[in-house]
Amino acid sequence: MTPQHLLSTLGVPAAAFDAGTLEARSPIDGQILGRVADAGAEAMNAAVERAHAAFLAWRNVPAPRRGELVRLFGEELRTHKSALAALVTLEAGKVTSEGEGEVQEMIDICDFAVGLSRQLHGLTIASERPGHRMMEQWHPLGVVGVISAFNFPVAVWAWNAALALVCGDSVVWKPSEKTPLTALATQALFERALARFGSDAPAHLSQVLNGRAATGEAMVDHPLVALVSATGSTRMGRAVGPRVAARFGRCLLELGGNNAIIVTPSADLDMAVRGILFGAYGTAGQRCTTTRRVIAHTSIHDELVTRLERARKSLKIGDPRESGVLVGPLVDQAAFDGMQKALADARAQGGQVAGGARVLADAQPNAFYVEPALVQMPGQTAVVCHETFAPILYMLRYEAFDDALALQNAVPQGLSSAIFTNDLREAETFLSARGSDCGIANVNIGTSGAEIGGAFGGEKETGGGRESGSDSWRAYMRRVTNTVNYSRALPLAQGVKFDV
Ligand code: NAD
Repeated sequence: MTPQHLLSTLGVPAAAFDAGTLEARSPIDGQILGRVADAGAEAMNAAVERAHAAFLAWRNVPAPRRGELVRLFGEELRTHKSALAALVTLEAGKVTSEGEGEVQEMIDICDFAVGLSRQLHGLTIASERPGHRMMEQWHPLGVVGVISAFNFPVAVWAWNAALALVCGDSVVWKPSEKTPLTALATQALFERALARFGSDAPAHLSQVLNGRAATGEAMVDHPLVALVSATGSTRMGRAVGPRVAARFGRCLLELGGNNAIIVTPSADLDMAVRGILFGAYGTAGQRCTTTRRVIAHTSIHDELVTRLERARKSLKIGDPRESGVLVGPLVDQAAFDGMQKALADARAQGGQVAGGARVLADAQPNAFYVEPALVQMPGQTAVVCHETFAPILYMLRYEAFDDALALQNAVPQGLSSAIFTNDLREAETFLSARGSDCGIANVNIGTSGAEIGGAFGGEKETGGGRESGSDSWRAYMRRVTNTVNYSRALPLAQGVKFDV
C-alpha cells in the first residue's frame, strides 16, 4: 500500500500532509512521504489554551467513564493495527514485526489504563487528634504536554496519553519532526474513538502539533502545561528540564541510555548470545534500551566474541518490509555520520572494530544501511561512555565481579541493565542496593523490550522519569492531603496551645 493509501485508511485527509516546511522522509529509501506544517509558537500557545479549557471539563467526568474513551481508542488500534504498523515501518524504518510490536504496546497500555481508571486509589491515614480523620486523594493535574522521539513515534505518546486521559488530564503532543505522519494517523484514530464516545468528552481533549524544537519550546514554557513529558536525547532534556523548573512546572524526562549486559562464567551462553544480538542490533541499534556494552568475564569473553561475530555476520540487513530482514536502515545521514565518528573515535582509543560499513548504497543511494559493528575495547574509554544512536556494541572484560558492577555503573546514563548468570549470589547482588544503578535491571534477559506493566525509565542522565505501568500514573495527578474534624473540639496538632 502507498503511504497515501495507508494515511487515508487511517482517516488522515490528504490536505493534512500535502504542504508545509516539514518533510516526512522514509529512511527505507529516502522518498518524501508527505509534507506538514511546522505549527510554531503561536499555534502551540493557542492549542495549550484550548487544552486547558478541555481539562476544566474533563476533570469532572468520572474516571471509569474516562476509561471508556481509552477502551474505545484501544479498539480502534486493534482494528487498524497493521495499517498503523506499516506506517511506523515506512516512517521510522522498523522491521515489520517491530512496527507491529510498537502498536501492540499502544493497545497494551490502553488495556492497562482502562483497568486503572477504577483504581486511582488514595489512602486513609491515622490522625493523632481524637475525632479526626485524614486521607489522601488524587485529582486530575491539568494539561499534559508530550514531546516524543523518532524511534518510538507512536508508543511513547500512547504511554503518556492513555494514563493522562484516565487521570482526567488533556493532552498536547509535539511529535518528532522526523515522524509527523504516524502522529497524524494516531490522532485520526483517537478522533474516531471520540466520535463513538459521546458528547461528554470536551473538544480539544487531545491535540497534535507537528513542528521542530521551537514549537516544543513554546509548550515547555507555557504556564498552563502542568506536566511536560519529554522523551529524547539527554541534550534535549538538558534544555527542557531547567526551563520547566524555572516556572515550577513538572517534568517527566525519558532520555538517553547506555545499557550494559554483564555475562558471568556460569551464564547460559546460548541465551546470552540471543539476548545480546537482539538488544544490540535490533531496531538497528536505535532504541533507548539498546545494548551498547557487554561486560564479559575473561574466561568466556573470547568464546562470546566468536559466537557474537558469527551471529552478527549472518544478520540480514535491508528493506525492513521484506521477510527475514532483521536490521533496517538508520534514520538519516546524521545518524550514519554519528556512527562513523564513534567508530573512528573507538579506533583512536584502542578499539578493534568489526563491521560498521555502509551497505546497499548502490541500490539505495538516499538511505543509510549499515553493517552492525562489534568493537573490542581495551577499557571503558570516552566513546564507550557516550550514547551513539546506532548498532555499535562495545565488548569489555572483567576479572572480579565487583569490577563488572563498577564498570556497568560508571557511565553517565542509567536506563537499562542486565546480567546473564546462573549464580544466585551474583544475580541477587546485581539487583541489590549495591548492584545496578539503573531504572531497569534484568536477570537472564536482555536490556530492551520492556513490558507495559512495569514502570519504565532511568536514573542519572536518563532523567529520572517513570512512565507506563506500576504507579507511574501518579505523575499525571496531583495529591491532596485532607484532614476532617468530626468532633466538637478543635485541638491543634503537636499539642500546640493557642487559646485566648
Ligand atoms: P531528540 O532529542 O533529537 O528529539 C526528541 C524530541 O525533542 C523531538 O520531538 C524534538 O523536536 C524535541 N526537542 C529537541 N530539542 C527541544 C527543545 N529544546 N525544546 C523542546 N523540544 C525539543 O531525540 P531523537 O533523535 O528523536 O531520539 C533519540 C533519543 O531519544 C536517544 O537519545 C534515545 O535514547 C532517546 N529515547 C529515550 C527514551 C526513553 O524512554 N528513555 C525512549 C526513546 C528515545
